[in-house]
Order: sequence, then C-alpha cells, then structure tokens
Amino acid sequence: MLKPMLPRTSELMFARLRSEFPHFKVVHKSDSPLSHLIDLGLRLITLGAQRQYLTRYHTVLGYTLFLPKSWATTDEVDRVVILSHERIHLLQRQKLGMIVFAFLYLVPWLPLGLAYGRARLEWAAYRETLRATAELRGLDAARSRSLKREVVNRFLDGSYGWMWPFRKQVEDWYARLMIELEAEYGADEQARLRAMTPRQETST
Ligand SMILES: [Zn+2]
Repeated sequence: MLKPMLPRTSELMFARLRSEFPHFKVVHKSDSPLSHLIDLGLRLITLGAQRQYLTRYHTVLGYTLFLPKSWATTDEVDRVVILSHERIHLLQRQKLGMIVFAFLYLVPWLPLGLAYGRARLEWAAYRETLRATAELRGLDAARSRSLKREVVNRFLDGSYGWMWPFRKQVEDWYARLMIELEAEYGADEQARLRAMTPRQETST
C-alpha cells in the first residue's frame, strides 16, 4: 500500500511549513533586491557558472524561502518535491541556528571546491528530494537516469560552487540511497504494479 505521508498539493505543503516554522515566509526572487545582489555576487565568484540563481534555484535564508521565476511554471508534484527539499534546510536552520547554519553552508572547508559543510547539508536535502520523488511519482522516477545526472552534477559542477567535486564518492552516496529507497518503497511499488496488472484467470 502507498504511504500517504507528504501533502499532495503545494498549498497544503506551504500550510505544513507555516505550522512547523512560525516565522516561515515566501518571497519571489524577482521582487527581492537582496536576491538580485546575491545573483550578481554568485555570477562573479563562480565566473558565470552559476547564472540561474534568480530563474531556477530555490533558496532558504533564515526562515524565508525565495522562489525563482521557474516556480510559476513548475507542476504541482514537482513543487511538493522542491518544498520537501527546502523543508530539510529549514529543519537544519532550526536545529543549528542561523549563524552555525550559514557558517557551515558557506565556509568549511572552502567556500568553493571543497565545501564539505554545504555538501553535508545538501546530501540530507537531496536525500529528501529523492524520497519525495519515490513517494509521489514511484520508485522508477526516483531511479531515473536524468534525475541521477541532475543531482550528482549539482555536487560536482559550479551550480553550488563545485561543492564536492568527487564523482565516485557522490555516485556511491547515490547508489546507497537508491538501496535505502528500494527497501522503503519497493514493496509499495510491487503492490502498485500488481494493482495495475489485470489478474490472470487460470483455467484447468
Ligand atoms: Zn538545497
């Protein structure tokens, strides 16, 4: 049986975030001078490798979620998946406090290239991205090659400042995660497939 754990719409997910985090707020990056400033800074320090901050990336600063332009055209299931990822950052921020969270995200060890603190925080959040995908779209969607490429590259490329550029290690983490998800959702998937397949009548 499928476990209905995540809210099924972004509105319900926003309501959950507002009840879990009383200071939770949503701002559109296009309306935010601070986001425009960060965008400019990121373009400069990554030499243009991160130039989609305003258009494609969702960002949590404090208890505020900043939404990119692409939010308007993101489908509902993807919105819930994205909000599940950002919820992990809100929990991290709550647990660690603003200063420690920002420090871990931005500094250890290096802001660019070997950002172990950021990679740890993002590993936990991308784990939730994949778990939410398995829950809402099924295990096969979580196992898709395109999603794997996208998530693995986030760690390797300039989008997060080359935060953990060790392909083998990131791919091993991904493989372990897939085994966990198979253990968690494999039975659900079997049940779903059985429910979808018309029963064969056996005659003797
Ligand atoms: Zn993240």
